Amino acid sequence: MIPVDKLIRSRRKTIALVVERDGSLVVHAPMRANEASIHEFVMEKEKWIRAKQEQAHTFYPPFVPKKYVDGEGFLYLGTIYQLQLGHDKKPPLTLNGTFRLTQASLPKAPLVFERWYRKQAFRVISERVQFYAEKYRIVYKQVKITSARTRWGSCSHEGTLSFAWRLIMAPLPIIDYVVVHELAHVQVKNHSKRFWNKLNVLIPDYRQRIEWLERNGHLLSLE
Ligand SMILES: [Zn+2]
Repeated sequence: MIPVDKLIRSRRKTIALVVERDGSLVVHAPMRANEASIHEFVMEKEKWIRAKQEQAHTFYPPFVPKKYVDGEGFLYLGTIYQLQLGHDKKPPLTLNGTFRLTQASLPKAPLVFERWYRKQAFRVISERVQFYAEKYRIVYKQVKITSARTRWGSCSHEGTLSFAWRLIMAPLPIIDYVVVHELAHVQVKNHSKRFWNKLNVLIPDYRQRIEWLERNGHLLSLE
């Protein structure tokens, strides 16, 4: 028996099943359809649902919230490094083959990790922005690191480029895609055909990088 995670009733005439990215099952049903007929329908489609759920889990690996325990993996530039808790004095968090977090910092581990990621994000992303700005002769104003959850980057009218700190967990080619995308916005503000043509010249495989973000973006997180 497959559990129904969400039942949505509407004026529709037939029952429809949707398996979401996280593998949850959503059933769309007519207003008056009874529970028995809905479950009968789900049982009939069990094989199809199972296949879809398996596919969802391969395509979108599930995110596991961080617990800050020994041996747990944390992403940095697309590589997973293990966490080791230590009795070192300072600094609270270092990366040298493994992440080392001091026991004393454990109670505020999420904050310590975020601060560390923000610092690296500013350093690495500023460097990449400068590199591509010189390469493509684009003049920008400054780089800012944000807490944005839904957008990886943005470009203001004045030419300030903002990037989510979570982006630093992604591989460099993905960061570079977002960097070049925002730099291109300095010259073309919208997402017109002209913009994508321009991006295609600068990063011919940009579609694959967008796809990586769509598949893995939810993993670039601590919570
Ligand atoms: Zn854009």
